[in-house]
Amino acid sequence: MIDCHTHTSYSKHGRGSIEELVQVALERGVSVLTITDHAPFHIDTDNRLLQREVGEYFNEIDRVSAMYERDITILRGLEADFIPGCEEALLGLLRDIDLDFLIGSVHYVPLDESFVRVWELPQLHSSRFLDSYFTSLRELVLSGLFDAIGHPDAVLRAVPEDRYCKMFTPLVPLMKQKNVNYELNASGLRKTVYDSTSGKERYGTWTYPSLKLIRALVDEGVGFTLGSDAHAPEEVGIGLEQTIVAAATAGVDSISYYQRRKRVNLPLAALRMS
Ligand SMILES: [Zn+2]
Ligand SMILES: [Zn+2]
Repeated sequence: MIDCHTHTSYSKHGRGSIEELVQVALERGVSVLTITDHAPFHIDTDNRLLQREVGEYFNEIDRVSAMYERDITILRGLEADFIPGCEEALLGLLRDIDLDFLIGSVHYVPLDESFVRVWELPQLHSSRFLDSYFTSLRELVLSGLFDAIGHPDAVLRAVPEDRYCKMFTPLVPLMKQKNVNYELNASGLRKTVYDSTSGKERYGTWTYPSLKLIRALVDEGVGFTLGSDAHAPEEVGIGLEQTIVAAATAGVDSISYYQRRKRVNLPLAALRMS
C-alpha cells in the first residue's frame, strides 16, 4: 500500500512525530509513505510549518527514512496552499528544497476581500463561492507547479456531486495537458456531510472522492495519487483500501506516487494493506 498524504505535529493541528507515523505505516503494510505537512504560507500561520522549521522538517524525514530504509520508503513531501497570485512566493520557498512530491490544495477561497475556508460548509453553496473555488483550481493546474491537486472534491461535503462534476469538467483536459494528478483523498470517509435544509452535519455518507468525476478523468487519461490525509499516527492508511476498491469500480487501474518529482506508476490491483 502507498500513503502519499500525511501530516505530523509539524502542521501544528496534526499530532505525532514522523517516526510514530512510520511505525503505524509498518504495522498496516504501507510500504511507501510520503510526509506532506502544510507548507509555510501567509494565512493561518499557526497551522503549518514555519519557514524556520523547514530545514529541520526535511532533516527529520531523512533521519527516520535512513533508520527504516530496509522496511519502508519514506518520501519528502509538502502540501502547499494555493491562492491565485501566490506562485512567486511558492517558487521562492521551493528554490532550495529537494522534494519528492508536491500537493497543491485550495483551502482558502478568495471572496469579498476575505477568504472562505473549504470547511465552512454552510458557505459552499453559493455560486460566487464555487466560481472562485474553481478559478483557484484552474490556476493551480495551469501554474504547472504541482504534482497533484489535494482533495479537489472536498467541497462535496456541502455541494451536490452533479454540480461539482459540471464545474470541474473543463479542468479535466487541462489536468491531462499539465500532467497534474487527481488525488484520491480517503479523509472523505471520515468527514461529515452538510444538509442545507436542516443545517445539520452527519457522518456515515460517502462524501469524496467523487466516483462520478473519476470516470471522466479515467477517460481523459488523467493520473491519480492516493492518501489518507492522516493528521495523527492512528489515521495512517485509514480508508485507503475502501477508496481503491471504489476507484477500481470507477475504472481506475493504476495509481502513482512521486519520487524526486518523478511519477512512479503502480497497478491498482497490487495495492494491499497487511
Ligand atoms: Zn488539505
Ligand atoms: Zn492534508
